[in-house]
Amino acid sequence: MRILVQKFGGTSLATPEAREHVIKHIERELAEGCRLVVVVSAMGRKGDPYATDTLLDWAASHGNALPPREKDLLLCCGEIISAATLCSLLEARSISSVVLTGAQAGFRTDDHFGNARILDVVPDRIFKELKDKDVVIVTGFQGISEKGDFTTLGRGGSDTSATALGAALHAEMVDIYTDVNGILTADPRLVEDARPLPYVSYAEICNMAHQGAKVIHPRAVEIAMQSGIPVRVRSTFSEGKGTLVANPEGFKDVQNGIIDRYVTGIAYVGNVTQITVESDEGSHHLQLQVFKTMAANDISVDFINVTPAGVVYTVFDFEASRALDRLRELGLHPKALSGCAKVSVIGGGINGVPGIMAKIVEALAEKDISILQSADSNTTIWVLVHKQDMVQALRALHKKFELHI
Ligand code: ADP
Ligand code: MG
Repeated sequence: MRILVQKFGGTSLATPEAREHVIKHIERELAEGCRLVVVVSAMGRKGDPYATDTLLDWAASHGNALPPREKDLLLCCGEIISAATLCSLLEARSISSVVLTGAQAGFRTDDHFGNARILDVVPDRIFKELKDKDVVIVTGFQGISEKGDFTTLGRGGSDTSATALGAALHAEMVDIYTDVNGILTADPRLVEDARPLPYVSYAEICNMAHQGAKVIHPRAVEIAMQSGIPVRVRSTFSEGKGTLVANPEGFKDVQNGIIDRYVTGIAYVGNVTQITVESDEGSHHLQLQVFKTMAANDISVDFINVTPAGVVYTVFDFEASRALDRLRELGLHPKALSGCAKVSVIGGGINGVPGIMAKIVEALAEKDISILQSADSNTTIWVLVHKQDMVQALRALHKKFELHI
């Protein structure tokens, strides 16, 4: 049995026209002889009737005190409405389908409401339904805890539902349908001449996703990588093949050079605050004190530089005041620079290539953009800039590395 998992994101299901495109992709693959498992997100974006953000606003406008367990229950409605809508449209075309919630589809998770981790996927019911239905529709982003409570997997969680199902069902492929033509060299909303990448390795996209490219969730890529399931990221609104994500050995017909590129793309995380804590004489334990406190308060830290003069790191803007309060309680005198953005240059081949940092500095200097902090690893170089310089920095770096060509 050839099983294909298709995942359709919020904008792909938002309008009657978009849903017509979705149905075309389903009909085409059924005609090819595939058994289809279709994972859906909630329809639309913030403001649309049943979108996830709309449901969150709904809860906030009714006392803003909904407990996490009940919030997850509310959020599950978005995907259920979306799945039932698709089921009606398919049945009207005599395509038989069945809707399974995350729980019915076998997603067992921990009980970390709002950001649950998948512990296991037991897809017995899906296999059973596939025997006599053309399409099994699964509500993305959901699971069930050991106690039997509905849970959600966090933002972008439907991508994770899709690849986890792909792995559990030993699917031939997981197709992630979205509103862009695949994975591009940068976010096309900010960099107009960003170019679709025909192939990327799991490692490359995992890196890009971790650095903020929200086209696919990093956890979704990790699961696909562990199980070796190829993933295609492609547009709902065209017939293009999009981007194939696999191990480089899987790129059989790759022309020379595609995999040898040293920079794959540029990504960003906006809205971060840089915190600096200078070391006073005698405070040998400063670093330990700072990072233990952040960990104890569940504040995620990034971009850490430790020197004898003190520590510098970043937190998300929305966690900054909490972080600063905790540091002051320790008797420290932190300095904060809010409104920063982390811009990353990502590539498989950055390691050991001379001159990459020089190129980055040159590109930013040409635009008068100050670098507030920088760091590098084998595969990524990060720079921290003021948020108002972020878009210009992305465009300048994209151009400097000739990613538009
Ligand atoms: P969906 O609802 O289909 O999951 P998302 O909004 O989560 O869609 O992801 C698609 C969006 O990701 C695109 O509209 C694009 O703006 C953004 N994006 C960010 N970085 C990239 C990138 N490198 N390539 C493609 N899209 C990107
Ligand atoms: Mg998404």
